[in-house]
Amino acid sequence: MELHELTFSEARRGLDRGEFAARDLIEAAFDRIDAVEPKISAFLTVRERGEVLAEADEIDRARARGDALGCLAGIPVAVKDNIVTRGLATTAASRILEGFVPPYDATVVARLRRAGALVVGKTNMDEFGMGSSNENSAFGPTRNPWDLDRVPGGSSGGSAAAVAAGEVLLALGSDTGGSVRQPAGFCGVVGVKPTYGRVSRYGLIAFASSLDQIGPISKDVEGAAALLGAIAGEDPRDATTAAKEVPDLLADLDLGCEGLTIGVPEEYFAEGLSADVASTVLDALDVLKELGARAVPLSLPHLAYGIASYYIVADAEASSNLARYDGMKYGYRSEDAADIFGAYARTRSAGFGAEVRRRIMLGTYALSAGYREAYYLKAQRVRALIASDFDRAFDEVDAIVSPTSPTAAFRIGERIDDPLEMYLSDAYTVHANLAGVPAISVPCGVCNDGLPVGFQIMVDRFRESTMFRLASACERGVGGARRPPGL
Ligand code: GLN
Repeated sequence: MELHELTFSEARRGLDRGEFAARDLIEAAFDRIDAVEPKISAFLTVRERGEVLAEADEIDRARARGDALGCLAGIPVAVKDNIVTRGLATTAASRILEGFVPPYDATVVARLRRAGALVVGKTNMDEFGMGSSNENSAFGPTRNPWDLDRVPGGSSGGSAAAVAAGEVLLALGSDTGGSVRQPAGFCGVVGVKPTYGRVSRYGLIAFASSLDQIGPISKDVEGAAALLGAIAGEDPRDATTAAKEVPDLLADLDLGCEGLTIGVPEEYFAEGLSADVASTVLDALDVLKELGARAVPLSLPHLAYGIASYYIVADAEASSNLARYDGMKYGYRSEDAADIFGAYARTRSAGFGAEVRRRIMLGTYALSAGYREAYYLKAQRVRALIASDFDRAFDEVDAIVSPTSPTAAFRIGERIDDPLEMYLSDAYTVHANLAGVPAISVPCGVCNDGLPVGFQIMVDRFRESTMFRLASACERGVGGARRPPGL
């Protein structure tokens, strides 16, 4: 087995036993990047090999001295390009931030470094996180390592593809309506959207602040739990982080699923779901039942309004958050305007891509005088109803399961001209963001055309340990991530 094929847990143990060094893992990561990047384009920026190797050598020396090491010491990690990194270009895949080099690290990046992780580069994404296919990147799409003609999902498609292809062991993504889980599902890896408030958003380039959470991507559940453990917890720089102790997220991984009750909402297994995906997911559910979980049917009556509510709330917040890109303080500026209003208009017209402009216009409309009540406030009321559906359900069950997406990875170009069709890719993921609950996508097999299928597990707020426990049972019962055949 080559080093780039290892999972996080295998790499962790290999490092601990001295079978290889951090330097070897970094060399393997860069060799793999050289070999597969021309095919998949998962990265927007890759750091200098020598620079990262020097950091790896420091970890190896610390280990040799017997120093206490962080839980991610020597592990190569990729960071989505909407998370700021000091001295390393950060664009959110937008022309409007082309050439922007942040003067500070996001809290999650500082915590990665504290844990000993080695940041290898910044990954491609849909511009500002707006999309489900990575086709909305201003710098060209990422391709799915399972089939190069297919999308990796989005918006954290670069992070998911980089992990699936073995370029890095772990990656950070961000999830506003499914952007970690859907690409993880499409690329056959594990992806987590933590409880809202579990992870600091300081230094995350905001899309929709009441929905955004940064989350881990890994080939194995253990890696996702370790990475979340490293970045989670209260942060004085983000007032929405919860003042809650972060439990040891690895502690319950081996407990199995005996005694847990799983809710299966009828609304998630209805119209629009591919029969192939449905049967793969239901097979995985059968495995969990054989392992001792109890499954009960459930109804969450307001789920059907999730997409409508999400796209109003998210776009309204985006229209406000993106007002700061005016060409004056940083990033791209159009130089050929006659006055300052012309400069704003030209900068924003040329700097933002088509989907971002669509979202800003939709969001501005939904907030405008006379429409605010009809759209934005109504969407917020629907959001509250969805959250109370979850609250009621979690009085009865430990977890709620569904497919991560209605279909497996679609072809590049297939949905790009049909925004509504694209938005429906998020039909099962937006609810966790609207309700603020944590959710994971774990690989549960492949469907008939040989593409991976994601199994989504949602639990009550701050119950990530139960989520990881079930995901780990699923991983062991069903077989976990496999090597993508596309490379
Ligand atoms: N695909 C969804 C959107 O376009 C979700 C994106 C995300 O989670 N960042 O808004």
